[in-house]
Amino acid sequence: TVRVRFAPSPTGFLHLGGARTALFNWLFARKYGGVFILRIEDTDVARSTEESVEVILEGLRWLGLNWDEGPEVGGDYGPYFQSQRLHFYREYAQKLLDAGLAYHCFCTPEELEERRQKTIASGRSWRYDRLCLSLTESKKEALLAEGRKPVLRFFIPEGKTTFLDLLRGEVEFENQELDDFVILKSDGMPTYNFACVVDDALMKITHVIRGDDHISNTPRQVLLYKALGFPLPSFAHIPMILGKDKTRLSKRHGSPSVTYYRDKGYLPDALFNYLARLSWASGEEEKEIFTREEIIEGFSIERVTKRAAVFDLDKLNWMNGLYIREASLDYLLEIFLEIAPKNGLSGVDFADEAFREYCKKVLDIMRERIKYLAQLIEEAIYFFKEDYPYDEEAVEKVLKEAGARERLEVCLKRFKELDTFTASELEEVVRSTASELGVKAAKLIHPLRVAVSGKRVGPGLFELLEVLGKERVISRIERTLT
Ligand code: GLU
Repeated sequence: TVRVRFAPSPTGFLHLGGARTALFNWLFARKYGGVFILRIEDTDVARSTEESVEVILEGLRWLGLNWDEGPEVGGDYGPYFQSQRLHFYREYAQKLLDAGLAYHCFCTPEELEERRQKTIASGRSWRYDRLCLSLTESKKEALLAEGRKPVLRFFIPEGKTTFLDLLRGEVEFENQELDDFVILKSDGMPTYNFACVVDDALMKITHVIRGDDHISNTPRQVLLYKALGFPLPSFAHIPMILGKDKTRLSKRHGSPSVTYYRDKGYLPDALFNYLARLSWASGEEEKEIFTREEIIEGFSIERVTKRAAVFDLDKLNWMNGLYIREASLDYLLEIFLEIAPKNGLSGVDFADEAFREYCKKVLDIMRERIKYLAQLIEEAIYFFKEDYPYDEEAVEKVLKEAGARERLEVCLKRFKELDTFTASELEEVVRSTASELGVKAAKLIHPLRVAVSGKRVGPGLFELLEVLGKERVISRIERTLT
């Protein structure tokens, strides 16, 4: 069976690039009836945090990337936190040591740096000079007695290392470009390359699918597999996600954090679809919107494009807008209520049935106009607060226009006479009032809109008035007139 894994280091948020790596592994597992494993690479004790683990798990769950083995669900190849697997790393390090394929190194960082500087100054490139390779036992004892704590280095043999990358074909490295890298640090913790190989082997990973920023680690790992007598998995290094300016994706391009999108009211299916489309060629170039099933069906490593993927927030927004239009109002409501407090909406009773019904109507008339749900709060707070801001230009150009006040007064009077307050009735009233006054309907519509929303643009005025309701509309017009 296919066994793949996502192996994040819990040192921060779940990056979009990481989420996409997780997604590709998940798709690969689902497509081939395999197992998707989540392994937390938390051996960097100083930088790993529990909050980060939580954020990563939440992000994956939100995207629907459920794992078959890993934290919380367990599995036969655990533990799934590297910090709980130290005994395995020690055991395999000892094997390498016993076989003469690894050796202790007592050089301090200062000593290494000094020799590195010298080497570079003389125009050569630096790799570890193997000073500790041939230490005698008595010399080692003397160094230990000095209080030095050695690291363990892996001995890189001569020759070339090749491996098959499912995306790029055969990749070849000269071993002399690699140096005898550290596999266990002086505190006994494993380094990434070593822990990763031990775990991938013990967890019986068949395909290592990860970002191509790791491609230079792979020859080191391949050498470790060989030294430890483990069978090699297949490798696929997927292109990184870059910003539009072709630099590494960062805040400047829109947030790179999955949680950010969840909290802004993006739909998980939309982000899933977007991330999948980003660098996976479906074969139907015109088609952008795919269900999860279609993506699983159409996914294959061969169809992953080799060039870097470019993150385009406008396109994600466009796609999310489509998903918002297609979703059920109940689903949108659920998400909106969830994210509203995080986006600064307070002073309302989220559990109140009437408020929920009201929000649903707001969603109904606004869904065509928004790209993500928090926009309702960012750009249409007038739905929720009486002290909404008035756009200065709108006040100048619309409310202060000659006759606008008088026209509003007439509308106010007519609205007060209404028993019911539906969009069609309101339209009727506004249009007939306009013709009685001998002006175009726009001369009433614009000031009404500014009065009840503070803005010149928004949803259709009559729907807006209906949703706000008679009471709010009357008091807002009155307030505008005072
Ligand atoms: N912890 C590594 C990372 O987050 C895992 C890389 C790998 O998949 O091997 O980059």
